Amino acid sequence: SNNIREWKLLLFPLLVNCGELLEKQQATVRKMDTQLVWARDPVEGYIQCCISEIGAKEFEVTPIDRKYPKRSCHVDDIFSSCDGPQDHDDNCELMLLNEATFLDNLKTRYYKDKIYTYVANILIAVNPYREITDLYSSSTIKKYTGRSLGELPPHVFAIADKAIRDMRVLKSSQSIIVSGESGAGKTESTKYLLKYLCHSSDSAGPIEQKILDANPVLEAFGNAKTTRNNNSSRFGKFIEVHYDAKCQVVGGYISHYLLEKSRICTQSSEERNYHVFYMLLAGAPQQLRDKLNLGKPDDYRYLSGCTQYFANAKTEQLIPAAQKSSNHMKKGPLKDPIIDDYNHFQNLDRALGRLGLSEVNKLEIYSLVAAVLHLGNIAFEEIPDDARGGCQVSETSEKSLTITSKLLGVDPSELRQALVSRVMQSKGGGFKGTVIMVPLKIYEASNARDALAKAIYSRLFDRIVALINQSIPFQASNFYIGVLDIAGFEYFTVNSFEQFCINYCNEKLQKFFNDNILKNEQELYKSEGLNVPEITFTDNQDIIDLIEAKANGIYTLLDEESKLPKPSAQHFAAEVHKAWSNHFRLGLPRSSRLKAHRTLRDEDGFLVRHFAGAVCYNTEQFIEKNNDALHASLEGLVQECENPLLKTLFPSGSNTALRGKLNFISVGSKFKSQLAELMEKLEKNGTNFIRCIKPNSKMIDRDFEGGLALAQLKCSGTISVLELMEHGYPSRVQFADLYNMYKSVLPPALAKLPPRTFCEAMLQSLNLSSKDFKFGVKKVFFRPGKFVEFDRIMKSD
Ligand code: ATP
Ligand code: MG
Repeated sequence: SNNIREWKLLLFPLLVNCGELLEKQQATVRKMDTQLVWARDPVEGYIQCCISEIGAKEFEVTPIDRKYPKRSCHVDDIFSSCDGPQDHDDNCELMLLNEATFLDNLKTRYYKDKIYTYVANILIAVNPYREITDLYSSSTIKKYTGRSLGELPPHVFAIADKAIRDMRVLKSSQSIIVSGESGAGKTESTKYLLKYLCHSSDSAGPIEQKILDANPVLEAFGNAKTTRNNNSSRFGKFIEVHYDAKCQVVGGYISHYLLEKSRICTQSSEERNYHVFYMLLAGAPQQLRDKLNLGKPDDYRYLSGCTQYFANAKTEQLIPAAQKSSNHMKKGPLKDPIIDDYNHFQNLDRALGRLGLSEVNKLEIYSLVAAVLHLGNIAFEEIPDDARGGCQVSETSEKSLTITSKLLGVDPSELRQALVSRVMQSKGGGFKGTVIMVPLKIYEASNARDALAKAIYSRLFDRIVALINQSIPFQASNFYIGVLDIAGFEYFTVNSFEQFCINYCNEKLQKFFNDNILKNEQELYKSEGLNVPEITFTDNQDIIDLIEAKANGIYTLLDEESKLPKPSAQHFAAEVHKAWSNHFRLGLPRSSRLKAHRTLRDEDGFLVRHFAGAVCYNTEQFIEKNNDALHASLEGLVQECENPLLKTLFPSGSNTALRGKLNFISVGSKFKSQLAELMEKLEKNGTNFIRCIKPNSKMIDRDFEGGLALAQLKCSGTISVLELMEHGYPSRVQFADLYNMYKSVLPPALAKLPPRTFCEAMLQSLNLSSKDFKFGVKKVFFRPGKFVEFDRIMKSD
């Protein structure tokens, strides 16, 4: 065994030197046949290669796997490779720590069903797209209870347990921030976290059950099938589980953010509206079907993404080109085979019951869901020879008008009137203050109808969340653990207000992540007296300012635009460019991007250079999406309705339309303040991060697209943390722990020493390079991979 040890010690510096050689990017031209490296590949992320030739900036490499061609690779895209396959719970244990070895570790483990890995305290979770036996069972929960991070294989339960222990020991509330792109597994991870958080107290009592019951209800109303995820959350949420001094669950609270409203009226091809519509149509018993006049999904325009009623020459420009593909015009797959709408309705109905809703309450909710569907079927046609260009409800949709009115509890003729005209107060002259009726054009009436549908549904969603919160009994709480499940950074071919808001949110979270991880790490180095040079990140505060600055941030400019007598998308975009013309983070949109949008010009948008990449925003619908207000006659109508639930959703006296244009509360400013409130909570709490990774875009198991995973790791800032660790000391052990670990394998004389001296003697006797570890005040710190190596030497001794 002595030989093995010596062999390892010999090999050690050799391996390290090989790694350093490449990193120095020396311009020597030399043949190196055997040096194994990772070379960047757009699809796989990295592939293992031999270097054939070293040039000044480009290396020629030959992939080990002959299916890949020989290639030339930029020196920055080449990383040293560890020898032999790697499989580490914590990526910081990798002997050579770089993005290629990191990716390789994730991939190797993924194919062994080990979907979790750490980067120090951050948990990386790769979506397996299948059930892994026993991974989340009660016995697994038990196994993780009270165990330190790192004692057992990485797991969401380990993070949940750490949060509980930190809350108890540090006496402070905790947050767990779950992030990742659509389909990466945030919501599933959140469910497992909550299962753990609610399970860990001795009795899984009624409060815990209520918190767990909230989920099927939230998902029915707030999730939908998209091309990226069959069960995509179209809102963000922060779920707090509250504890008393004895760490018993005493309450819960859900905050929600930004429900995607456009989905209520239109969806892209292959996508669906919110689950609840299909569930109601598939699962409602006959009596309820009759009461609500329910038909098949194909009967409803809002479920077919159909835009035929826009087929009016004057309004064509309003239809985004992306939605005008022939695919979109035909009726899409309305009933998704994977989603069992019938059974989900039964579950929803029971869950609503458990939340304390009576049959009457449930009927009120279902009536509004059905009303939205019927409302969507009201179409308009031009009044023949009408000089004012007004429109009327088309003859074929009279029935829909009647049913909608019945369900909303309003007079059909009043609904008709409110849809096809708007009330305005005349301004000047002797008629000041006179109320006049302005007839609406077809597209204006259609917009008014859609605005009403969106307002009803989104307020219903708010109410559902409020009902859930009311149903969770709440005693005084000492601390809480909050889990944040909110969409990650996103960009599509055409990006609108929704993407703008979500990317702004991600900038804030990224800044928090950087500050938090960096700050903690540097503070630890400082308090332990390690004398490590300060590492700085690219700060993204400048992007945040660009968006939220009070004086001239993009949100402010948008609100100001809305207050103008004639707001326009072009003018708004121009104002943004004017205010930030010399700012590095803002640019003109790439015309090619906008061309996908037939009618767009450069002035219709702006480009923001986000931390995760540049995104081109099309401002066309920013103004209307930023304003939730219904026009006055519609708002008045629902305020005076006979439907008791609807009436409470639109309390009178809060008529936003009458409050006037100058005082409206915009969607953007509401989100900004909600987010500020959230950030304030996060800043006060202890923090834990989970980064979810989507292994492929096909939503299948056993398929790891390295390039895709790498892009997500970069986007989430995880690669930056890796770089920080690469130059720091990511493995750390308390003297006492190290002492306990090895005292039995060392001579008894050594074991008599106090822990710190013991550790010093032990490390010295192994002849480890002094660069590889540092002694702090309480802990020994190791360079990446050195602790594992050291541990192996000790164990093989
Ligand atoms: P979105 O942003 O669209 O809401 P998301 O990140 O919340 O996406 P999830 O809905 O959590 O994604 O996950 C998508 C799907 O992936 C799930 O419906 C499930 O089929 C699968 N999945 C995710 N995590 C796991 C897991 N840990 N085990 C098994 N399957 C999983
Ligand atoms: Mg989700």
